[in-house]
Amino acid sequence: MKSHYQILIVGGGNAGLSVAAQLLMRNPSLDIAILEPSDKHYYQPAWTLVGGGAFDIYDTVRPEADFIPDRAEWIQDSADKLKPEHNLVVTGSGKEVTYDFMVVCAGIQLNWHTIKGLPETLGKNGVCSNYQFDLAPYTYECLKNFQGGTALFTQPASLIKCGAAPQKIMYLAADNFRKRGLLRDAEITFYTGKPGLLRVPEINKALLEIARRYGINLSFQSELIEINGESKEAVIEITKDDNKDRITVPFDMIHVTPPMSAPDFIKDSPLTMKDDPLGWVDTDMETLQHNQYSNIFSLGDVANTGDTKTGAAVHKQAPVLVNNLLAMIKKKPAAGVSRYDGYTACPITTGYGSLMLAEFDHNNKLMPTFPLDPAKERYSMWLMIKYLMPWLYWNRILRGKY
Ligand SMILES: Cc1cc2nc3c(=O)[nH]c(=O)nc-3n(C[C@H](O)[C@H](O)[C@H](O)COP(=O)(O)OP(=O)(O)OC[C@H]3O[C@@H](n4cnc5c(N)ncnc54)[C@H](O)[C@@H]3O)c2cc1C
Repeated sequence: MKSHYQILIVGGGNAGLSVAAQLLMRNPSLDIAILEPSDKHYYQPAWTLVGGGAFDIYDTVRPEADFIPDRAEWIQDSADKLKPEHNLVVTGSGKEVTYDFMVVCAGIQLNWHTIKGLPETLGKNGVCSNYQFDLAPYTYECLKNFQGGTALFTQPASLIKCGAAPQKIMYLAADNFRKRGLLRDAEITFYTGKPGLLRVPEINKALLEIARRYGINLSFQSELIEINGESKEAVIEITKDDNKDRITVPFDMIHVTPPMSAPDFIKDSPLTMKDDPLGWVDTDMETLQHNQYSNIFSLGDVANTGDTKTGAAVHKQAPVLVNNLLAMIKKKPAAGVSRYDGYTACPITTGYGSLMLAEFDHNNKLMPTFPLDPAKERYSMWLMIKYLMPWLYWNRILRGKY
């Protein structure tokens, strides 16, 4: 392993692999290393379908090695300390790697531990979550074992990856119960820290109607703060007019979405914004260049690009970052070369065989790819997400070809 690279990519996930492949397609002589500890790569969007019993978990994982571009070097190690003033990264195993340019895309950290009692009971006692590879199959176990009673679904107030995923599994669960004749015996409640279901008014309206159709209770500005798996009780904190109330709710099953933040090593680095406890990388939201260190770029879940933490956003961000980074290498300023418009997408499963494809920007403006009403549920979109998108992801997106 060398100790200096022209471009060091920290994180070989959706963003890191896409950027590496696109950079090398544009200029095969670039000297690139990808710093990534995991020997596996996951197609996370399909975990919703796994939790609903509509996708095989083993089809969501492949060897990381299969996607490292031939001309890039894989440093199978983690970033531990970032010292941007010296263009230096210290790895988990204590090696020092320097760079001319760095791309930071280490994803998001799931903070299970911030909910009291959750780590102890996760994956048993009817406590499930689609947010992790080893847990998603248990969600379907919980759905199958449900014979009526109380089913809870939670979402924290802070930013999460795929902001609609907590609801997607709820609609699949409701449809599962409906198909088995259990919907009347099910008390389903969504406790969300948000003030609504989705920030785009047209989609929010349609989702309220879907929740009504299934008889789902909606409790806004309500966060899960504690859970007792043995007694099957959840403690929810509800904010109303600046007052906080706590209620204890018994459950038969609960799907939890944990609070999230940037990974600790990013939070503890000089790359974050001042006074941001969640530690997102201080990135220009349009050029994706770091606001303090001009030779650093960031994209994906870890970047401070607002409420756009999806693979769909990465797909739009990657070519922008690549254009701007290549311009920098040619000694042109990145600003103004290419700009990310804030696009993100939420394919919302509203039942088995039905999906609403919500595409929008920072300003909640709809940005539909297809000339169709995005607030309508469609079978065609379900087919696209179940069959076309996984194929595109493995064969085109990670290869930098789409
Ligand atoms: C349940 C669920 C449903 C989703 N549904 C959708 C959807 O329908 N549509 C959609 O577009 N998106 C969806 N997403 C979100 C999508 O998967 C992410 O937004 C996307 O993977 C972000 O890419 P990324 O490269 O930023 O992060 P990741 O793909 O998570 O990659 C981050 C990488 O950084 C590595 N890393 C971590 N720490 C370090 C370290 N210290 N040093 C070096 N590397 C490190 C990790 O090992 C990982 O490989 C969903 C996610 C989940 C969990």
